[in-house]
Amino acid sequence: MKTLTCDLCDHEARGETFEKWMEALKSHYIEAHADVMNDPSKGEADMKKWMEENKTRFDSEATSSKETT
Ligand SMILES: [Zn+2]
Repeated sequence: MKTLTCDLCDHEARGETFEKWMEALKSHYIEAHADVMNDPSKGEADMKKWMEENKTRFDSEATSSKETT
C-alpha cells in the first residue's frame, strides 16, 4: 500500500497498485478539482503527461511498512 498526496493539494490517496491509486485520486479529483478535469484547454496529451508524472511519483514512493489504519 502506498500513500501519495494529490499533486494539487494535500489530499492523500492510497492504493495497492498504481491503477488502484489512480482510481482513488480520480474520485478525489472529481470532487475537489472538477474545474481542472473539465478544463477545455487540457487535451489527451496533457492527460497522458499527468498520468506519467504521477506514475513516476508512485513508483519512486517507498511502500509503507507500517499501516496505521
Ligand atoms: Zn487534490
